[in-house]
Amino acid sequence: MGIHHGHVLRILRDEGPQSRAELARRSKLSATTLTHVTAHLLKDGSVIELESGGLGSVGRPAQAIRLAPEAYAVAGVHIGASSIQVTVTDLRASTKAATSFDFAVKGGDPTAIVKRISEAVNKLAEEAQIEAERLIGVGISVPGPVDAARRKAIASINIGWRNVPFADLMEQALSKPAIVEHNVSAMALAESRYGIGKDVPALLYVYLRTGLGAGLVVDGMPFRPGGHGAVELGHIQVTQSGAACACGNTGCLETFVRESTLMHASGLTGSAPEHLLAHVEKNPEAWDVVVRHLTSALASAVNLLTPDLIVFGGHLGEAPDSLFDRLRSDLPPRVMPHMRDILNIQRSSLGSQAGAIGGAATALDHFFYSGVLH
Ligand SMILES: [Zn+2]
Repeated sequence: MGIHHGHVLRILRDEGPQSRAELARRSKLSATTLTHVTAHLLKDGSVIELESGGLGSVGRPAQAIRLAPEAYAVAGVHIGASSIQVTVTDLRASTKAATSFDFAVKGGDPTAIVKRISEAVNKLAEEAQIEAERLIGVGISVPGPVDAARRKAIASINIGWRNVPFADLMEQALSKPAIVEHNVSAMALAESRYGIGKDVPALLYVYLRTGLGAGLVVDGMPFRPGGHGAVELGHIQVTQSGAACACGNTGCLETFVRESTLMHASGLTGSAPEHLLAHVEKNPEAWDVVVRHLTSALASAVNLLTPDLIVFGGHLGEAPDSLFDRLRSDLPPRVMPHMRDILNIQRSSLGSQAGAIGGAATALDHFFYSGVLH
């Protein structure tokens, strides 16, 4: 029965309040099944009834059913190379409380990282006055690919991890169900469910921080060829004679756009500032190299993956308008004719917490909108 609960909840999330008749039509469930499912959802508080304003079949005000976003909560976690974001959200991935802290993730002990995260989740839940039983799960977005069952971070070349069982560690620490997702796939999922990518069939998210990652969501599902979900845009080789990349190859896009390269090109030291690419732009030669190689790699990605929308996050999400202007003029001639009119590049709509919201979106898909909770 759980799968029907998930189906009804997704309709209410995506289409707004519905009368029972509309719900029956959209869900294609039998009247008996729908009655059973809605009664169950009303009882556990996932949905509520409200006066729809219209009239029902016998002249009484029709009752509409809507999602109750505050009924439950999930935690979303983003593990970056040197910092961690944690958020607690409602059923629409709206943040109720959030925090972030620096943590020496590179070379760090995953058990210590998870302990610190679980303490943060408990503190945020308390701050947002969410009772323990209303917190239904945790989604952890990690750098690098994850295993097909989404229990482990398989490998992060920038952090040095191999096969870290984050979901098991988190379940032990927090006594809540947990799931891991490739970080940029999680961000892509959040944009496609709750952000700028609603109603977009294929969304490619490109995220630049320490390195450059990408994630693709097709028809609402993270694209998962080979089971792991990472789209290695950063490791497209844009020149054979370039610098060594952490992946073992040379001349990858990432070698031209990684944070350390951009910091060097800007003459900056220390930790990367906000609007890093605006600093790079002041060095026209370095800026041109970044834009040219990004354009080349994106042209390959567009021809291979045919995204309807490309979303930029991290440093790219804060890039000067001139980057978007250049891409909008330079990219179309480099892609197949049928893709030229479709090209659409936008900034992330989820802001600096996009990674943690991605974790929350992953948890919501897995523990709530799948019907598992019911
Ligand atoms: Zn590489």
